[in-house]
Amino acid sequence: MFKYPASDLRRATQMHQDCPHCGFHFEIEPGFFWGAMYISYAFSVAVSVTFGVLAYLVFDDPAVWVYCLCIFFPLLLLSPLSMRFSRVLMLYWFGDE
Ligand SMILES: [Zn+2]
Repeated sequence: MFKYPASDLRRATQMHQDCPHCGFHFEIEPGFFWGAMYISYAFSVAVSVTFGVLAYLVFDDPAVWVYCLCIFFPLLLLSPLSMRFSRVLMLYWFGDE
């Protein structure tokens, strides 16, 4: 589905137009993957809550900037994966016509 591995940050978002194996056209209708933003948003909320609670437990209710750092960096690091998973899920859930 994606042309390059997620670790290749510059090109992580590039997708094949059609499946190299079966020829399935990924973007079923124009803008199909806009909906993946909502799934990605749900991932971001889940990651934020998880790392927020972890920061609370590990640092015993630290200052606000500590929370911000503890949430910002995991979100940044996971964003390529979040984008990819959300597109895969979008296709999986809404891809059948
Ligand atoms: Zn295929």
